[in-house]
Amino acid sequence: MISVFDLFKIGIGPSSSHTVGPMRAARAFVRLLRHAGLLAGVARIEAALYGSLALTGEGHGTVNAVLLGLEGADPANVDPAWLLARAGQLRAGAALQLGGEHTVDFAFARDLQLNKHQFLPRHANGMRFRAFSADGAELCREVYYSVGGGFVQTEAELDAPPAGGLAVPYPFASAAELIALCRAQNRSIAQLVMANECAHRSEAEVRRGLLDIAAVMADCIQRGSGHDEAELPGGYRVRRRAPAIMKKLTQLQYAGRADIMLWPMVYAIAVSEENAAGGRVVTAPTNGAAGIIPAVLQYYRNFAPNASDEGVVDFLLTAAAIGMLYKMNASISGAEVGCQGEVGVACSMAAGAYCAVLGGTLAQIENAAEIAMEHHLGLTCDPVGGLVQVPCVERNGVAAEKAIKVAQLALLENGEHLVSLDKVIETMLRTGQDMQHSYKETALGGLALTVGVPAC
Ligand code: SF4
Repeated sequence: MISVFDLFKIGIGPSSSHTVGPMRAARAFVRLLRHAGLLAGVARIEAALYGSLALTGEGHGTVNAVLLGLEGADPANVDPAWLLARAGQLRAGAALQLGGEHTVDFAFARDLQLNKHQFLPRHANGMRFRAFSADGAELCREVYYSVGGGFVQTEAELDAPPAGGLAVPYPFASAAELIALCRAQNRSIAQLVMANECAHRSEAEVRRGLLDIAAVMADCIQRGSGHDEAELPGGYRVRRRAPAIMKKLTQLQYAGRADIMLWPMVYAIAVSEENAAGGRVVTAPTNGAAGIIPAVLQYYRNFAPNASDEGVVDFLLTAAAIGMLYKMNASISGAEVGCQGEVGVACSMAAGAYCAVLGGTLAQIENAAEIAMEHHLGLTCDPVGGLVQVPCVERNGVAAEKAIKVAQLALLENGEHLVSLDKVIETMLRTGQDMQHSYKETALGGLALTVGVPAC
């Protein structure tokens, strides 16, 4: 089992697998050197990015993330503005402070390698770090894979995953098991996941942690709506749209002419634009799809009768349970299964969670989560220019609206359905495995090809 706090992590944009994960991998390599007593003897460091990380590495902020990760930066609290400034210094030849404490030789053009046409064997998002002594001998090397949602594993961990995961009172490996457990224990999904979380921290800590996450999500909507209409970084001159849309929608609302379903769309666009600009976001369950859950949650708070903090906590716990099923049984990595694994999963999580806080039964919640994914099956990842902007920003808006509608649809029926959530998760994985790699976060296919300049 994984924790709700593994799925919802406070980090920075624009990508969980290409920004947050690589920064964590670089930090892990420095930790490895420190624990092995090698740090002080390192004279030169080398980082090599492979496959998708190399192809879309500049657009996704991977290179900057690795540089700062080697200096010890943490995605949870690094200042996005400082990150950009410091990465610029390192690219211009400033000495690299390994782990923030030890100066090493690092020449950007020589030591940060982008291997765009080479994929490491275990996953599309591979990285290799090497450390050398002053006489050029290799002191240490490690290969890491960023497997989606900011999760990072070494080659050995991918080959032989550590058994068990979190020890919890109510482990589940499928939606069928989750629902059976809830029925047997007479608990809601949120109550069951809360009981699992309480094996490792107090209920008060879990609630506080979840409300903190919800607050960061709300802040992100606020910041994304309040900015001027500046261009997003990356050279495609994509402008932020959320501020102007928000103003127009507010005017329409006062005039009684607003379509209420435009609100979740603009909330999601605001968060996604913050993410695209490298701002502070919550990975939910990835950064590319970080707008959907905050948007549906904000819609719940603003428009659902009797919305409460209790409801917010239940929403996030239910969403996390659904996300765990995808993480454990399929993938939440666009590089592995395409955008169905990012936007599709976030939509499924949000649909089930929204259905739950509106009073849905277990069958209705499962139905909502299943419908949301069923209609994202086959969704490719084709970011123009390798940037998490087009189609990602709008895609979040459309998926947020879809999650709410799907939840409402499920609530109108009795929960009986032909396609189970487990079957749709299995189908998503198989579809992703069948997809050509040009449609899996390489910026070599789809809109990236017809609209943008290919990244290779
Ligand atoms: S297209 Fe989807 S999976 Fe690909 S970068 Fe954008 S949001 Fe992520």
